[in-house]
Amino acid sequence: MTPGQPPERLGARSLDPHLQRYAARAAGMTASEVRALFAVASRPEVVSLAGGMPNLAALPLDFLSEQVASIITDEGLTALQYGSAHGVPLLREQICEVMALEGVTGHPDDLVVTVGSQMALDLVTRIFCDPGDIVLAEGPSYVGALGTFASYQADVRHVAMDEHGLVPEALRAALGAAQQAGRRVKFLYTIPNFQNPAGVTMAVNRRAEVLDICARHDVLVIEDNPYGLLGFDGQIYPALRSMDADNVIYLGSFSKTFASGLRVGWALAPHAVREKLVLAAESASLCPPTLNQLIVSRYLATHDWKGQIKSFQSMYRERRDALLSGLEQHMPPGCTWTRPDGGFFVWMTVPEGVDTKAMQPRAVTARVAYVPGTGFYADGFGSRQMRLSFCYPPPERISEGVRRLASVLTEEIEL
Ligand code: PMP
Repeated sequence: MTPGQPPERLGARSLDPHLQRYAARAAGMTASEVRALFAVASRPEVVSLAGGMPNLAALPLDFLSEQVASIITDEGLTALQYGSAHGVPLLREQICEVMALEGVTGHPDDLVVTVGSQMALDLVTRIFCDPGDIVLAEGPSYVGALGTFASYQADVRHVAMDEHGLVPEALRAALGAAQQAGRRVKFLYTIPNFQNPAGVTMAVNRRAEVLDICARHDVLVIEDNPYGLLGFDGQIYPALRSMDADNVIYLGSFSKTFASGLRVGWALAPHAVREKLVLAAESASLCPPTLNQLIVSRYLATHDWKGQIKSFQSMYRERRDALLSGLEQHMPPGCTWTRPDGGFFVWMTVPEGVDTKAMQPRAVTARVAYVPGTGFYADGFGSRQMRLSFCYPPPERISEGVRRLASVLTEEIEL
């Protein structure tokens, strides 16, 4: 490059002068469609049914600010210091109490605190996956997990779901196909409760079957459960981990039940795996932020956190109702959607001939945003699907957003 030459005068190929230097795994790191949408979707005139940001308005901010101040006063030198990669011991005990609500009887020593469950996903993939290893994931699946699997060059194969979650027959077929091809399947990644993005829950009577299939094929199960306590009727499903402690790694998070910005999540692993997870965590971040762990710990010890979760449940239920009733009233014939009983998301399928990705700019012009379905598949499927989130906008905005979306879709079908 000539000194002083402005970068925009360079050809497109040389826009990133480091292109030839990246490791092969960097090729799998691409911006997610959800992230690309954030900029447009956050314009105030756009109703965003796109992002999955939890709504924190109900948090007791005055109480929290007093607690944070008192943590600094009482134990500031600990709170602001490095800690262990394993996580603060008291918090690990408290997390075990939270998981007990789902029937999990884990030992605090087998639990590793992470920077959100996203980091736990990264650590698990790091310790188990070599490039080319097969990872099974529901189709569709969480975009952040697919990104992590891609960054470790895993080969993601999707397993079908229906309204009762992962279909055991489809799991058998996927494992059989991999076996026939002589390929190694490292784990099944599943979000059993209020799935992101599909909004469906794995039926309780399917859970033992799914676990049994995986155990027979010697395939580990990664249970990702950030929404499990957000059932709208207060219902709590038994965790897969509660049914098979030896073959399930459970990932949890305070992002949806307390505060996403604190970035406190965890992995509860079979005892034998725990040590590798701690070592991987150490090399990734030395330790999770001590202050944030103490904030969560103090919150669990001093606040009615179960009551707080109840208020989150009713807030999200009201939003889910606004979305579902808007869809019933306004969507053109041929559209179908899921009816979640918890979590943040509805998954909609539109009539043949409509491509949700191609339609997206027209939706944004009509001031409504959603996430096209293709982002939730590793194999290009999902062009007739979209994810609609009901977690963030207030109910009346959701209703308005659905009206706008319905008119865009109706025009699209008539084209
Ligand atoms: N798993 C799923 C299914 C999610 O939806 C999310 C966040 N949207 C995460 C993991 C990551 O959550 P966090 O890192 O905030 O705990």
